[in-house]
Amino acid sequence: MKKHDPIHANHRVQRDYPAKVKFCPLCGAAMESRMLMPENAERKVCTRCGFVLFPGPKLVAGCFVVDAGRVLLLRRGIEPAVGKWTFPGGYVDFGENAADAALRETREEVGMRVALGLLLGVFNDGPNTVVVYLATPGKEPPSLSDEATGVRYFAPDDIPWPDLAFPTTIDAITAWVASTRKPRQSA
Ligand SMILES: [Zn+2]
Repeated sequence: MKKHDPIHANHRVQRDYPAKVKFCPLCGAAMESRMLMPENAERKVCTRCGFVLFPGPKLVAGCFVVDAGRVLLLRRGIEPAVGKWTFPGGYVDFGENAADAALRETREEVGMRVALGLLLGVFNDGPNTVVVYLATPGKEPPSLSDEATGVRYFAPDDIPWPDLAFPTTIDAITAWVASTRKPRQSA
């Protein structure tokens, strides 16, 4: 690989984090496992500057863009689950909140500036937590990107269940379909 070529993240390497962290990201000295009080948990600590590594969970946030009773799904252009359908979303960046990330990912993946509505739900799969907002489309129609090789609105009866990308995709769509079928409550 050339030094300045853009790259994709190698998820096999990411999985070794944080167990294999050897050197302090601040000063470069060796890290060692120490019992940290008062939480009484082993953490990697720098032997020189005292930096403590608190590896955060990788939170995912996404948008459930609904238009005329149909939800926008994209066909994933990258691994994992390439070729499968899910809603726009991705990792919350350091310094960003879940709502910002959901809006940014939707803009990047399907080219839409959407307006966030209520929370559809928070869905969990192993160590992954996915925050999903309902959203309404703005002016732009959905467009394709490297991350979305197909985009389409699906009605509740039209969901491509066998071709959904992740367990959290299934859970989020299940929750939305159920909400569309609830009898309207009178106020
Ligand atoms: Zn250090």
